[in-house]
Amino acid sequence: VVSLTNVEKSFGAVKVLNGVSFEVARGEVAAVIGQSGSGKSTALRCINALETIEGGQIMVCGHAVHDPKLDKKTLRRDVGIVFQSYNLFPHLTAEQNIMLAPTCVKGIGKAAARDLAREVLARVGLEAKADHFPEQLSGGQQQRVAIARSLAMQPKLMLFDEVTSALDPQLTGEVLKVMEDLARGGMTMILVTHEMAFARKVASKVIYMHQGTVWETGPGAMLDDPKTPELRAFVGSGL
Ligand code: ATP
Ligand code: MG
Repeated sequence: VVSLTNVEKSFGAVKVLNGVSFEVARGEVAAVIGQSGSGKSTALRCINALETIEGGQIMVCGHAVHDPKLDKKTLRRDVGIVFQSYNLFPHLTAEQNIMLAPTCVKGIGKAAARDLAREVLARVGLEAKADHFPEQLSGGQQQRVAIARSLAMQPKLMLFDEVTSALDPQLTGEVLKVMEDLARGGMTMILVTHEMAFARKVASKVIYMHQGTVWETGPGAMLDDPKTPELRAFVGSGL
């Protein structure tokens, strides 16, 4: 579903991605880990064409993302992305936040969009909060609404960038549970995370990035037996 081949990206004179290659198959859950500044968020943003790349190729659900003629709108119908900050509209309820894109972007009718919103809220365990405004929800609940909002667009691929790092441990657990359920339901996911236990348990593939390259990649078990000193140090640092 996703493949990156020798992807290169610079900001000014700084090379942030220096030949990044990896693949994620349908139904796979890939966890991207690595030190701060190693290029994890940039790689994720490139997959969704939020950044343009200078070299290499990115294929996502049949879209050639590196192609200057890429239709970003059709790409983003297939790809949902959730960030650390939830970016919910404060003046809209949970349900209204979720209905927005299906009605405005896909042209789905209001009643159908409301049904869809209820359905995705149920998937994240928040059917009772449909009429709540963001400020009436905890951080974890807001993040689950943000995930539900993405799911309402029925993406083929979900990208998550440190969606739990602003949350305290209990709320983190709630959000990780939702992501684990999604994974079990067969959703293809790429997540940048500092939650090593989650990566070990849920990810079918771990991608360790170091200085803008994929330094080591393998199944979750690779975290128990790192081959490179860099990954060993990273795992040992408890980050
Ligand atoms: P973290 O764990 O802290 O989120 P990361 O692995 O996600 O780190 P990136 O956000 O991808 O790292 O950033 C990689 C490098 O690119 C960093 O050195 C960062 O300062 C730089 N960078 C990222 N975005 C920009 C930008 N828009 N303009 C200039 N430099 C940027
Ligand atoms: Mg980041």
